Amino acid sequence: MKKIISFDLDGTLVNARYGDMVWNHGIPLEYSKKYNMSFDEAKGLIRKQYESVGDADLLWYEIDRWLDKFQLSVTSEELLERYESQIEPVPYAQEVLEYLGQKYMLVIASNAARIFVDKELDYTNFRRYFTRIISATSDCKMVKKEDRFYQWLCGELQVSPDEIIHIGDHPVFDHDIPSRVGIESYCLMSEQPHADDSLDLDGRRTITSLKELLDRL
Ligand SMILES: [Mg+2]
Repeated sequence: MKKIISFDLDGTLVNARYGDMVWNHGIPLEYSKKYNMSFDEAKGLIRKQYESVGDADLLWYEIDRWLDKFQLSVTSEELLERYESQIEPVPYAQEVLEYLGQKYMLVIASNAARIFVDKELDYTNFRRYFTRIISATSDCKMVKKEDRFYQWLCGELQVSPDEIIHIGDHPVFDHDIPSRVGIESYCLMSEQPHADDSLDLDGRRTITSLKELLDRL
């Protein structure tokens, strides 16, 4: 018997564009001004720095650490606010949350830092649907690439893995890892695939829109 549905946030309930604007536009723009170079040059340099860390590492998610590293004076709060108009729910997010919220307890399990999660939930007014809101990286100092994050989640919510469903757009972090610990998981195939999407999606439970979830559950 399923009791809880856990959602990733970026690229799953909220368009991934917001994070992309902060990380790949806002930060390079500040950098280009400070170091007097073109935006494209700054973007390329910064991209390389991000990639040298990678999204499996906690440091990838720590915006203040990156601002420090690049010695930029803009604060993370200012940056997040600057692009907040880019925050946009994915199609059907509201209807699906409204519907599922009547049948299940809903939680957020995101890799994004707490400040991003808070901003996105407030801007979309989605906070009201969720009983628990968890930033794996800020609250648990873990990335969702690890079995132990999902094991911790089950413990925290006091359910066994077969009582939770997880949905997210990252084939590994949101599907393979939670599936491995026994959580029924669905990979939302977004229009813009992940960088590592060359991964074979065969054998994964996939959906092409949140609406499809309603038929599958
Ligand atoms: Mg995501």
